[in-house]
Formats: sequence, structure tokens, C-alpha cells
Amino acid sequence: MSQNNSTPPSDFIRDIIEEHFRSNRFDGRVATRFPPEPNGYLHIGHAKSVCLNFGIAVQYKGTCNMRMDDTDPVGETQEFVDSILRDVKWLGFGWEDRLYYASDYYNQLYRYAVELIRRGKAYVCSLSADETREYRGNLTEPGRESPYRNHSIEENLDLFERMRAGEFEEGAHVLRARIDMASPNMTMRDPVMYRIKKEPHYRTGSQWCIYPMYDFAHCLSDSIENITHSICTLEFENNRPLYDWYLDALELKSHPQQIEFARLNLSFTILSKRRLIELVEKGYVGGWNDPRMPTLAGMRRRGYTPEAIRNFCDRIGVAKNDSIVDVALLEHCVREDLNEKAPRVMAVLRPLKVIIDNYPEGKEEEFDCPYHPQNAGMGSRKVPFSRVIYIDREDFLEHPPKKFYRLAPGREVRLRYGYFVKCVNVVKDPATGEVREIHCTYDPGTRSGFAPDGRKVEATIHWVSAVHSLPAEVRLYDRLFQTANPLEEGPDITGFLNPKSLEVLRSCRVEPSLVNAAPGSRFQFERVGYFCTDSIDSSGGNLVFNRTVSLRDSWAKILEKAKK
Ligand code: ATP
Ligand code: MG
Repeated sequence: MSQNNSTPPSDFIRDIIEEHFRSNRFDGRVATRFPPEPNGYLHIGHAKSVCLNFGIAVQYKGTCNMRMDDTDPVGETQEFVDSILRDVKWLGFGWEDRLYYASDYYNQLYRYAVELIRRGKAYVCSLSADETREYRGNLTEPGRESPYRNHSIEENLDLFERMRAGEFEEGAHVLRARIDMASPNMTMRDPVMYRIKKEPHYRTGSQWCIYPMYDFAHCLSDSIENITHSICTLEFENNRPLYDWYLDALELKSHPQQIEFARLNLSFTILSKRRLIELVEKGYVGGWNDPRMPTLAGMRRRGYTPEAIRNFCDRIGVAKNDSIVDVALLEHCVREDLNEKAPRVMAVLRPLKVIIDNYPEGKEEEFDCPYHPQNAGMGSRKVPFSRVIYIDREDFLEHPPKKFYRLAPGREVRLRYGYFVKCVNVVKDPATGEVREIHCTYDPGTRSGFAPDGRKVEATIHWVSAVHSLPAEVRLYDRLFQTANPLEEGPDITGFLNPKSLEVLRSCRVEPSLVNAAPGSRFQFERVGYFCTDSIDSSGGNLVFNRTVSLRDSWAKILEKAKK
């Protein structure tokens, strides 16, 4: 449903899947899953994983399960579950009845743990956290075996049951896999399977006071769901032997293949959930759906389309090495999509009053203005014109420098879809010297946008009629970070924040056709950029627009340069 390219993508993961078809490893089945932890909102990095997992299922007529990887009670909430489901749907994917929760497997995971103890492959360890670290060794030195490693199976079964029953304090014991303390892969040095956590869980309440670790829970959840290809990010490459070890130790028939790919990193952006939580909790942004956030909820509110995001994910592809993608590519994909879809309208963000001296007072005209220059199918609307209009302050200069072609004293320009006007007078505030209004004359013969005598103008500017236009608030969003590589590590990210990431303009004027613009509608404000009505704060009586993206496309320039 999502692949908008006619040729399906191809990459090393799809190569592996096709190889498995040939070798019949999974009887021709493809079953993937998308397993977010509901401890935050989804971001654009998750979108890459969503597009990959659901995209593969669509392409190979398989299935992709939606699974909440909710094995840590701290920070997980139903609100996050709801937001995740909403965002995956919005991106254009569905899971039919295959919504699963790792927390639904707690009983079964517990039974698997007991089975590993019975098989002599797991033991309860009572070393302190410091001791455990010390026993673990490091990259150059092997670890040492815990003194609890050789306790009897009966003893371990008893202790583990009592851990579950809540007899011990947090940190008193953990359940560990009995693997190899000398393994060069630190992950395999008797990893923790269960720890005591006396925290209520948003779904299981206080039923449990021991919780499984990711490595143990994840492979088993995959196996329980009969997943074939468990796709995850590169950080888990060292964990793959452990993924396989648990499944082998339990001799499970369903043994998925873990495959790692490079996570998405974006310039000028942070995609670490921990950091995003901090931005929200410390109030640096207005919430998870702040239009500056790299979350899908933020991007949706900003006006990004799901098609643009999916197209972006297709374009960046899937690779095996980490890299940083230029955020300009994402913005380019958004522009490309909106350029086709967004109706053109006129809005004046910083109004300057223009009085057309020779236009009769009380007279009105309507211009029929197409919504899209290349797509007549989008229709048109009537835009009223009258004696007093607003233009953008940026389109007038009293003392224009050489390359400024817009309005200036004595100069003539074209009003978009309308007449030629010529500036004949400038009225300034006597106290401040600021230009308060300007006076123009119009040429009634230029209604078609051209002069009968063939004279040319250098510029066409947008405008709205003063009495007919509607007041609006416009929020100019820019990148949240001002450095290309805001460090995800380190104590403080506030130093990287762009102080100009939001500018609110409260006295904007927009053409009257926008009166009933539904929340979340997208437009191109001619010559200014792409905007959408805010899905929360905008209504007919109170129009609020978010800038989705400006018109200047730095990625297109990069592409052009690359061609030369
Ligand atoms: P973070 O590291 O930001 O906390 P996470 O990986 O812990 O993110 P999860 O909710 O566990 O977040 O992620 C769900 C899925 O999304 C995982 O399969 C993970 O690999 C994938 N994912 C998360 N971040 C990215 C990213 N930047 N690029 C690609 N995939 C990602
Ligand atoms: Mg995670």
C-alpha cells in the first residue's frame, strides 16, 4: 500500500529475504514486526523502520505485526501506545488484527526462564551491581564466574520463584543466563535475564515485580509470533549471538533471523528518545507534537505529508553503515509533494498598507485565480480587490539597492492576478521614520496582467484587499537545532538549540477564501512558502497557520551542483 515507486526497492535486507525464499528457510513466509517501546512518541527514525518492516510485508505479501515492546514499567504509558498506533496509521500502514504486547507474554516468558533454569542454563545471581561490573571483565580481560553460578537447579528455581513473589528488594538478585564469562563478546558474559523492579506497569499493574530484559524478551516475543525476519538497528549486532542463544537453548522451532541495518541520523536533528523526552519535560518545546519536533506528530502538525515521509524513507534506502542524512533532503521531499498538492493562495505576513489613489472609493472587483498554475483540475477561487490593499513589507523599499526589483518610489510592479501599480508617494511616521503606508496609482488597462503598450515590469508581488482579508496568526518554524550535528551525548543540548526556531507573527492578513480552512489544510502562500492551518489552535474565527517549509530548496541546489 505504501510503495509509491513503481520499481520496488532493493537492498541487502531484501536480498537476504529473497535468498531465504530460494533456500526455503521459512517455507516462503515473510513475517516482520515493528516493535516500539511505548515510552515516547515515534520520530522520523522510527518511520524508517516502519516503512522498512511494513514495506517488506506489503512487497512480499507477508505480514508485519504491530508490537508494543513494553517490558520496562518505567516511562511506558497508554498515551504513548495510542500515539504510536495513530502515527503508524497516519503513515499509511495497517496491521489488521495483529496488535501485540510483549507484556502479554510475561507468563510465557517466565515459563521459558524456568525452563532455562531447569536445563542448567540460567541461575539466580546475588552479586551487587558493583561486583557484577567487576566480575564482568572488559574488552581485553575475560570476566570471572559468579560464585552463585554453580548453585543447584533446585536452589535457583526456589530463588527465582521467590523473586517473582516479591520476597526480595530491588537489586538483591537477578536471573542470569549461564553462557560464557570468557566470551570475547561482552554481551555473552552471563547476561541478565530478569531483574526485580517494584514498579507498576501500565498494563499489568502490580502483578509483576520482576521484569525481563530486552534481549531475553525480544527474541522470544519474535519467536512466539512466528516472525521470520527480525529487523533492528546496528547497535544490536553484538546481541545477535545472544538472540540466537536463547532460542537455541530452548530448542524453539520458530527461530527468526535477526538482521541489523543502520539507524537514521539526520543533520540538525536529534533522534534519541531520551533527548526528545528531555526537550518535552523541560519545556524547551510545547510538547511531543510541537511542530519543531522530529516526531511524526510534530511533523504532521507542521504540515508534512505521510507521502513525503515515505518517499524520503524510500530515497534514503537501507544500508549497513551509519551515516548522517542531510535534513535538506527531507525538506526537499516535503516541498516536492506539496508543490503538487497544495493550492496556491495569497497571504501577507507583515502587512504594509497601499492606497491606490486613482481606484474609485467603494469599488470592488473580483479576480478569478487558479489554485494551481499547472493543474487546472484544482479549480479556482475569486479574490476580491479594492482601493486599499496590503502587501508584504519586504516587497517595498524606499531606497532600493541595485538588485531589488520590487516596489519602490516611482517604480511599477504587477499585482499577482491583477493590475500594474506604481508607487507615487510614501507616508512615514513623523516620530520614528517608519513607512506607515504608501500610495500608488493603477493602470486600468492592465487587468489581464499585461500592458497594452507592451511595457514590462520587473516583479509580480502578492497582496490582499484590506477590507476583505482576514486576520491570521502565522508561526514561522525553523530548525530546532542550529548546529548540523547536535551531540546526542553530553550533559546539555540546550546550547545547540536554535533561538530563532519559532517566530510568531500576529498581524498577518490572508485572502478571504481561507475563512473555512479546515484544521490541518495545506497551502502554498504564493512567494512565501508552504503553510498549514494548525490542527489544534486554528478555527474559522481564529486562523493560525504553521510554516511547513519555506520555498527555498537547498537540496535542489545540491543536486544541481552534483550534476555539473
Ligand atoms: P531510541 O534509541 O531513540 O531510544 P529506540 O530504538 O529505543 O530509540 P524503540 O521504540 O525501541 O526506540 O524503537 C522501535 C523500532 O524503531 C526499533 O526496531 C528500532 O530499531 C527502530 N528505530 C529507532 N530509532 C531508529 C532510527 N533512528 N532509525 C531507524 N530505526 C530506528
Ligand atoms: Mg529500544
